Amino acid sequence: MEEIMKQFVEYPSDPYTSIAKWKENTKKKVIGIFPMWIPEEIIHAAGMLPVVMWRSNEAITWGYAHVPPYNCAINKSVVDDAVKGKLKFMDGMVFLRQCLQSQEVPFIVENNRPPAFEEYLYLPPIYHGDKASKDFTRDEFKRLRKRLEEFGGEKITDEKLNESINIYNKNRSLLRKLYDLRKEKPGILRGRDVLRIVWSSMLMPKEEHNKLLESLLSELEKNGYKPAKGKKVFLSGCLCIHPQLELLDMIEDLGMLVVDDDIYVGYRYFANDAEITDDPIGALMERHFIKTPVDPARGEVEVNWGKELIGKVKKLHADGIITLLTKYCPPHLCYYPDIKVELANAGIPEVLIEVEHEVISMESIKTRLQSFREMIGGH
Ligand code: SF4
Repeated sequence: MEEIMKQFVEYPSDPYTSIAKWKENTKKKVIGIFPMWIPEEIIHAAGMLPVVMWRSNEAITWGYAHVPPYNCAINKSVVDDAVKGKLKFMDGMVFLRQCLQSQEVPFIVENNRPPAFEEYLYLPPIYHGDKASKDFTRDEFKRLRKRLEEFGGEKITDEKLNESINIYNKNRSLLRKLYDLRKEKPGILRGRDVLRIVWSSMLMPKEEHNKLLESLLSELEKNGYKPAKGKKVFLSGCLCIHPQLELLDMIEDLGMLVVDDDIYVGYRYFANDAEITDDPIGALMERHFIKTPVDPARGEVEVNWGKELIGKVKKLHADGIITLLTKYCPPHLCYYPDIKVELANAGIPEVLIEVEHEVISMESIKTRLQSFREMIGGH
């Protein structure tokens, strides 16, 4: 177990060095992708390694010459890392119109440290799934495929795409299996370990990650499980970034057990598969329009995040929800007041914790979490 966990921890502990080392060993290209919805499978089918861009642990310095402090953590961090040259091991970067705030990031990167390959996808910021949106999305994915073929000098056939989709589907299904196990046996793994397992999937080759996950699952099934005590909580939100590991430790140390989540470096990342068909680009496009978990950055009034959360909490018999709000994230902020009211009407206890970049006061968070713990049933 220890040996397996060590390997999951390696990439998230220092992604810059681990990925650069992988590149040096394999002589393959690395493509950074902006969260949350770039179809990584197309990059994988081009024989390159897609890595999801992350929030660094360093204080923002040069980045503030380009983005204001009231931008969210991922925008500030990616810009800061890029202008400092910390992402120069990436041969390319693919961005998308994730939200209004993130729209300027690719242009700042291009003006300061342009990578050898850069692409910007204009994916529809709505869920509709009408013919026009679907055709447009399909064309964007085809454009990415063509640009990668030109950059890599290799044709991305439908067969290669389906092979990649298969490998990615396997990874997603193994991660879902791990989450099912945690629902069944809360506390079987520390929250920080679950987070690092998902995060490492965003950084390392999926083939390697699949092997590690299979070994981990078989070890967990073999090992005995001593039921853990604690109030069951659901983590929601945290769009585009990973929360601090210390925050997850604090939740557990206060006597709560995370049983499920819809955070990005969590269930949101691996929730939905793409089908294997003779039209793999179409399958990736169809996956893009799946409406659950609800994504506020592609908001639509008929799609209700609050209702989805209520359903999940009831099914899990969870005691409450801890909302992790990526600070300065307008899509989440727009929906949060309505979600709060719906949860209150449904009698579901909830607490809001803001997740920032380097400025995070653990003491004030502890106080809020302590009160929440008392609310759902004190020690
Ligand atoms: S965290 Fe929110 S504001 Fe930041 S890029 Fe993601 S959706 Fe946009």
